[in-house]
Amino acid sequence: MTERDQYDVVVVGAGPAGSTCARRCAELGLSTCLIEEHAAIGYPVQCAGLLSARALAACQVSEKPVLNEVSGASIVTSRGSRLTFDAGTTKAFVVDRGLLDREMATAAADAGAEVRVKTAYVKRSGSVIITRGMEGKGEIACRMLIAADGPRSPVARDLGMERPPVFLAGIQAEVPREMGGNLVEIYPDASPDFFGWIIPSGKGRARIGLAGRREVASRFSRFISQQGVRSCCHFVTGTIPIGVMPRTYGHGTLFIGDAAGFPKPTSGGGVYTGVRSAYHAAETACEACNEGSAADGLLCRYERRWRAELGRDLELGFRLFSARGKLTGEEVHQLVRVLNDPSLKADILTYGDMDQPGVLLRRILKNPKIYPVLGILLRSGVRQIIK
Ligand SMILES: Cc1cc2nc3c(=O)[nH]c(=O)nc-3n(C[C@H](O)[C@H](O)[C@H](O)COP(=O)(O)OP(=O)(O)OC[C@H]3O[C@@H](n4cnc5c(N)ncnc54)[C@H](O)[C@@H]3O)c2cc1C
Repeated sequence: MTERDQYDVVVVGAGPAGSTCARRCAELGLSTCLIEEHAAIGYPVQCAGLLSARALAACQVSEKPVLNEVSGASIVTSRGSRLTFDAGTTKAFVVDRGLLDREMATAAADAGAEVRVKTAYVKRSGSVIITRGMEGKGEIACRMLIAADGPRSPVARDLGMERPPVFLAGIQAEVPREMGGNLVEIYPDASPDFFGWIIPSGKGRARIGLAGRREVASRFSRFISQQGVRSCCHFVTGTIPIGVMPRTYGHGTLFIGDAAGFPKPTSGGGVYTGVRSAYHAAETACEACNEGSAADGLLCRYERRWRAELGRDLELGFRLFSARGKLTGEEVHQLVRVLNDPSLKADILTYGDMDQPGVLLRRILKNPKIYPVLGILLRSGVRQIIK
């Protein structure tokens, strides 16, 4: 296609959400253009690369990006309590995000989408997207726009859309470290409004990081020095939006992935939910093109679709995120001690699901062994959680 032709769909941003949406739109027969501001897709990496088995399957990539497998987790508090649950089988994968993103964009190109790197969205003027690229200013005409341009979302800002309510900062270093197992370690006290993590990313390597609202850089420095880290092979910083924007469509545009605030508020993981939002957006974009309308009355189908699949867990996750911010270090310590009860650990192993926290939460709250810390949960706002 030449620059003057009109595409059915332009997707802005070749992260997991954008590449999935572009691939799916092309598979559905839409003329599709995927633009990415960077010259190299997948870089800079802004991710810990921990994906549930379900998330990795949704990405539809080969095994090449997989660096390691994870079978469970340990929650470690600075007051000395520890809760370890190990399923003894692979529950999640640690991936090379750069490679994962490249494979996903390649799949979009293979499906027929036109992929243009070093092409940045600047603004929209009617049905024309103004871009900036290697050859200077450009114009791309389209019937539908998909904003998959990550947490900063220049598209959402340009179109005056209301943004997600909370943005966390995340910092991570890849360090030489032998963890001697396949468990992720979670450190709630490393970041009192979220958590810190250490992820085994392959032989002799680990990813150590944290995310939070405040004092993130100083907390990160303290955390890595407590962990005895001296060398860093790869450093990552990024933003994690928490809470979906109030309206994920408008101005002939659908907002997907981090651009819309899809990361899970309990973990900050956004690949799975972002990819799922992309499938719903592609389906809606196809209907919009076939029915010749990008009006809100049609685009709201996208929101109905993602809400039906993801809405309940995302809302519950947001309430859990708010409750977590109210817990003191001592309360987290008490919770971890109580969760060590064998019947609660059995519930965690049976019903724990990185992508759907609601199932486990409802189960645990029915278990009488949780009663000793019910007061703590009620103070943190659990009444709203179980509504
Ligand atoms: C420290 C940290 C750790 C994380 N760990 C995990 C984890 O372990 N597991 C997990 O699932 N998630 C994790 N996440 C979240 C995850 O990285 C995101 O949810 C995911 O990348 C979202 O995918 P996306 O496609 O929506 O956006 P992105 O991956 O952010 O992709 C957006 C793309 O849009 C491009 N873009 C931006 N502006 C423009 C423009 N104007 N024009 C053209 N292109 C543009 C960007 O260059 C980028 O390529 C983590 C995030 C951080 C910060």
